[in-house]
Amino acid sequence: MSPTRADFDQYMVPNYAPAAFVPVRGQGSRVWDQAGREYVDFAGGIAVNSLGHCHPAAVAALTEQANKLWHVSNVFTNEPALALAEKIVAATFAERVFFCNSGAEANEAALKLARRVGIDRFGPQKHKVLSAVNSFHGRTFFTVSVGGQPKYSDGFGPRPEGIAHFDYNDLASVEALIDDDTACVIVEPILGESGVLPATREFLQGLRALCDRHNALLIFDEVQTGMGRTGHLFAYEHFGVVPDILSSAKSLGGGFPIGAMLTTDVLARHLSAGTHGTTYGGNPLACAVAGAVFDVINDPATLAGIADKRARIVAGLEAINAELGVFDQIRGLGLLIGAALKPAYEGRAKDVLNAATAEGLMVLMAGPNVIRLAPSLVIADADIDEGLARFARALKAFKG
Ligand SMILES: *Cc1c(COP(=O)(O)O)cnc(C)c1O
Repeated sequence: MSPTRADFDQYMVPNYAPAAFVPVRGQGSRVWDQAGREYVDFAGGIAVNSLGHCHPAAVAALTEQANKLWHVSNVFTNEPALALAEKIVAATFAERVFFCNSGAEANEAALKLARRVGIDRFGPQKHKVLSAVNSFHGRTFFTVSVGGQPKYSDGFGPRPEGIAHFDYNDLASVEALIDDDTACVIVEPILGESGVLPATREFLQGLRALCDRHNALLIFDEVQTGMGRTGHLFAYEHFGVVPDILSSAKSLGGGFPIGAMLTTDVLARHLSAGTHGTTYGGNPLACAVAGAVFDVINDPATLAGIADKRARIVAGLEAINAELGVFDQIRGLGLLIGAALKPAYEGRAKDVLNAATAEGLMVLMAGPNVIRLAPSLVIADADIDEGLARFARALKAFKG
């Protein structure tokens, strides 16, 4: 007997509330469930399936590596990890890379590095971490405490100390908190989970200047915005602000779990042998897949295509909205798109998502008032058009 959705409620820890159907197969931007029903995928596994499902380059890299070498631990290094690190260094501000398995782990490494640098250079008092209210940096206890959402960090006992929260896009609120004991400021270039809200250029440039003034490190959490999502390899390029440390995950592996922390040579030296680690980090399978994904994304044709696909989706959403009037604003960058509901539909993003599912379309939420789209970066125009047609039907049904 095949497993069913009911098995989730019987066997799994109930920390998720998955959809009523169980996907079993994907190809490009289409997914099929156990009943053979087909969905257009505008969700992309939450900004993860950057090349859609079963992209031939990723499948080939995984298959080849699967027949070669799976795991050696960090007692040894390995060719796929070295090759991927070299590619990342060649294409970004970074001179050094640390591999791990998720966004939370990449941020955990970034925050530990920043505190270590501060303490090494200036003494134990320099450990303060500043982050934005409503930001999201992962679910380890340090990263969830840094993320400014008490609903995720409350109820687990005492939190790590030395963390304070500023208001996103409000430089004055950062100025009120930052001082010479601040080790780092961590920020998402676009608030992803909390509404697909882009930072202003002035805000990120202002953060850079404030960090420099107080010898604090600037960390960009690009777990969601990185690896082509905004039409640039990383969003820092769009804003013209270079961070000291950058975290990546999600799209980096295209669906194979991997995370990375990028930084400079002088900072990396503070994590000397034995100071940090993870068993699977830099795993050959993950790095082989990520290497293949990297080559496809970091291609001028792919990156240019993202702007075209965004334009096609946004034009479609605007046409739907001209008729139905559900959205206040279509925002975001590249293929991270937020559609904010009008006040009349406040709190009803989940109902829109359910209506989309009923029409055979996977979308995401970013809080209770915003529908979020994070499709494959190489989604075919035909899939965009079909997805938009289904979304139009879904919104009609939603309005009743
Ligand atoms: C998803 C996300 C994370 C956490 O990544 P995981 O792989 O779930 O640990 C961290 N930061 C941002 C901005 C994210 O979108």
